[in-house]
Amino acid sequence: MSSTPPTSPPTSPKVGFVSLGCPKALVDSEQILTQLRAEGYETAKSYDGADLVIVNTCGFIDAAVQESLDAIGEALNENGKVIVTGCLGSKKDAAGDDIVQKVHPKVLAVTGPHALAEVMDAVHLHLPKPHEPFLDLVPAQGVKLTPRHYAYLKISEGCNHRCSFCIIPSLRGDLVSRPIAEVMLEAENLFKSGVKELLVISQDTSAYGVDVKFRTGFWNGRPVRTHMTDLVRALGELAKQYDAWVRLHYVYPYPHVDEVIPMMNGGHVLPYLDVPLQHAHPDVLKRMKRPANGEKNIERIRAWRDACPDITIRSTFIAGFPGETEEEFEYLLDFLKEAKIDRLGCFAYSPVDGAVANALDNPVPDAVREERRARVMLLQEQISRERLQAKVGRTLRVLIDAIAPSGATGRTAADAPEIDGVVHFKLPYLPGQEFGVGQFVDVRITAADEHDLWGTVD
Ligand code: SF4
Repeated sequence: MSSTPPTSPPTSPKVGFVSLGCPKALVDSEQILTQLRAEGYETAKSYDGADLVIVNTCGFIDAAVQESLDAIGEALNENGKVIVTGCLGSKKDAAGDDIVQKVHPKVLAVTGPHALAEVMDAVHLHLPKPHEPFLDLVPAQGVKLTPRHYAYLKISEGCNHRCSFCIIPSLRGDLVSRPIAEVMLEAENLFKSGVKELLVISQDTSAYGVDVKFRTGFWNGRPVRTHMTDLVRALGELAKQYDAWVRLHYVYPYPHVDEVIPMMNGGHVLPYLDVPLQHAHPDVLKRMKRPANGEKNIERIRAWRDACPDITIRSTFIAGFPGETEEEFEYLLDFLKEAKIDRLGCFAYSPVDGAVANALDNPVPDAVREERRARVMLLQEQISRERLQAKVGRTLRVLIDAIAPSGATGRTAADAPEIDGVVHFKLPYLPGQEFGVGQFVDVRITAADEHDLWGTVD
């Protein structure tokens, strides 16, 4: 007589995940994790608890390439079964060889960015999926890597421009806009799940819909064009229902952006524009092959501030681009003195493997690039200090990011997570009132430096 051994429930295969790179890569990671969960895979918190590891890489600048290669090496050493995805996955060296395969020949599979289907094929091959997918375990908003109260909403992939310092189009291809109904549904699911701030991202948010000729889609039974202004209007209405914020990133200063500015006075589409200008001198902008390089940016910024006095403008600039003369650089400084950009990042030009700009005449010596970057940042320190000082005495709406015994931190409409400043404040003890992360609170601003604000909740 034989007896049947007791059966234990099948255990789900576990996948470890390392996510590197920009917010767009983060969204790719979230989509892969969501799909894994949908199919019944679990995520592992350590290398040795994982049956396989996925590394989502960045290939934008040399330091990011090295960081990605190191992360793959660590995952191979610690676990051994590694799938690589992301920008570095589609990058080749000067000899035309795949960089990842060359440095780490033991990886199981390599894909480029935005390759959910290929990544899942590789996972199915090397770690077959569980027999019973627990589809109902997937939260409708997907799996998020950001804290619960804010989330990135990627509206398109790729880019139609060909800026001479950038290799993103060769890594990610031309612009492909997501259907507006799909974007709106994702936004609604995120708000329903408790997200209080939605950060709209893409390579060029102003170009949303160009590739599909601004095709009309439907949302809530209404026609909505695949166009930036329609999208922002619809997101603003949705955010109002959920008492949440929408923040716009990577907006190029095309004329139709002017139509979006009045929508920022309602409190839900934040009065915040992240406009990557990169330079001010027309000749440098032409050498950079920048989109909207013929626009009169000073006039445009002035008009935006007239239409929405509280608007915060964030931008990034490059100092020491090939051929930049001292005169062209000083033109940039004069522009910054006049524009008084609220939040500014400046990078010394760094040649990216494969970029057209590497072949331009008259490269600027390393030391001069660095010195010019430092001069921009010194000027910006003064501008930022003055602009933040003007907020002292005002009461601002703040989204709470963290609460500790020593005090809380949060952000105003003027502060995007990770890249801008924060507000430090103490929460009062009020009987019957509890404060939590992801909640809005009014903070009276009492002090400022060049980055951050301090205040109290009365
Ligand atoms: S707009 Fe220019 S810098 Fe931005 S992704 Fe496109 S090519 Fe690159």
